[in-house]
Amino acid sequence: MDYAALAQKYGTPLYIYDFDHMARQYQILKEAFGARKSLLAYAIKANSNLSVIRHFARLGAGADCVSLGEIKRAQLAGVPKYKIIFSGMGKRDDEIAGALKADILFVNVESEAELGRVEAIAEQMGVVARVSVRVNPDIDPKTHPYISTGLKENKFGVSIEAARGMYLRIKNSAHLEATGIHFHIGSQLTELDPILEATDRVADLLRSLKALELEGLRFFDVGGGLGITYKEESPIDAKAYAEGIYQRIKDLDMTILCEPGRFLTGAAGHFLTRVLYEKRSGDKRFVVVDGAMNDLLRPTLYKAYHRIEIVGKESQGPLADVVGPVCESGDYFAKEVPLPETAHDDLMVIHSAGAYGFVMSSNYNSRRRAAEVAIEAGSDRLIRPRESYEQLWQSELEWMQTP
Ligand SMILES: *Cc1c(COP(=O)(O)O)cnc(C)c1O
Repeated sequence: MDYAALAQKYGTPLYIYDFDHMARQYQILKEAFGARKSLLAYAIKANSNLSVIRHFARLGAGADCVSLGEIKRAQLAGVPKYKIIFSGMGKRDDEIAGALKADILFVNVESEAELGRVEAIAEQMGVVARVSVRVNPDIDPKTHPYISTGLKENKFGVSIEAARGMYLRIKNSAHLEATGIHFHIGSQLTELDPILEATDRVADLLRSLKALELEGLRFFDVGGGLGITYKEESPIDAKAYAEGIYQRIKDLDMTILCEPGRFLTGAAGHFLTRVLYEKRSGDKRFVVVDGAMNDLLRPTLYKAYHRIEIVGKESQGPLADVVGPVCESGDYFAKEVPLPETAHDDLMVIHSAGAYGFVMSSNYNSRRRAAEVAIEAGSDRLIRPRESYEQLWQSELEWMQTP
């Protein structure tokens, strides 16, 4: 990939996404499931640019959404409604109503109280809401605590016991239909065993519900969370993953629904930023770049590691912190990494930035959000221009009161 030419053409800071890499990741997972009934619903929160969603929709993917805004994005990008699911911790009434109106595949409910709201809203609207219960299987996914979601101390889902009661309630409701069962134990998972253990627990729950005869219950939703290589992690083998899940639930005759986010987009994305200055303070060396935590928050938020390269130079030299211009000590991309001597305007590539990168960006410090570019079949195209200064304040300007 010609980083220098792209930075020249589109400016920095810049996100570039290899669409062919994304397609390959999708195919790897789809082929791992092979002839078994499966649906891959791309977790669009990982990278919700419309062109990215549309890219996966064209390959046959559905969309896992966590807000009404994301459902609207999925629809705009052409994801058919029968492949859209709505997950997320706290759904507002208007979001539930919006999802029911959009007639999506199902709503993943996260608590007894939320199930009550879905039922009441479906009743008001005179519809039957297709739902799935998010079960918290209480399993340690062995990932970073911030992205672990399937332990009972995490806020997500309900216990197996509570889920049983909720399916009974769904069975007895005229406005609810059980369509799926769901778990999602965490993100950036690099071990298969916790996923398979969760599969076992949830499959056992399902078997114990047999007597309820929930005919519409067709989707066994194993969540997302498949990890990628940032440093030297070895990702879970897709074939072992698909086969392992299938073996544990084949007696149940369900469609396996999987919600990958990072796996599809993470390694396909690169963040380009230019060196502004080098600075020393005592023994400490800083490389100051034009990108910042408002562009890529993962190092600050999760202490995440991203491989860093200076275009045209070897990745060795004295240790340095790579920092941005934002007025926060937490504004950094790397700490104590070996870097060659840099000069003003040297181009830096921050790798594996395609998931939870641009989507977490903000305008903090009145910085314009970066541009996004797609690379596909050897050509590049803009999929979101850099924000203009006018865009930063256009929604405030007319509301500014003159005393
Ligand atoms: C975030 C999320 C995903 C995607 O997670 P990845 O780690 O990016 O694969 C899938 N399902 C749910 C419910 C999520 O919240």
